[in-house]
Amino acid sequence: MYCPNCGAENLDDARFCRKCGSKLKIERKTTYKTTVDETVNTQQTSQNSNDGSKKWIYIGCCCLSLIILWIVGTLGV
Ligand SMILES: [Zn+2]
Repeated sequence: MYCPNCGAENLDDARFCRKCGSKLKIERKTTYKTTVDETVNTQQTSQNSNDGSKKWIYIGCCCLSLIILWIVGTLGV
């Protein structure tokens, strides 16, 4: 593999560039992981569009419970 920083040729399993010391293997893994994450994000985005109403119901319940707690606290004092 070639160093992305200085372009020096290194062993495929080298972790650091032997010329400039840049990390090599992490760069490679990041590229792979990014591709996987993009696939997952695409799937999650399609799911989120279906669960959009559920999300607002959840937020509404949270706000309602906060208001109830506030009223109870005010009356309690
Ligand atoms: Zn290098």
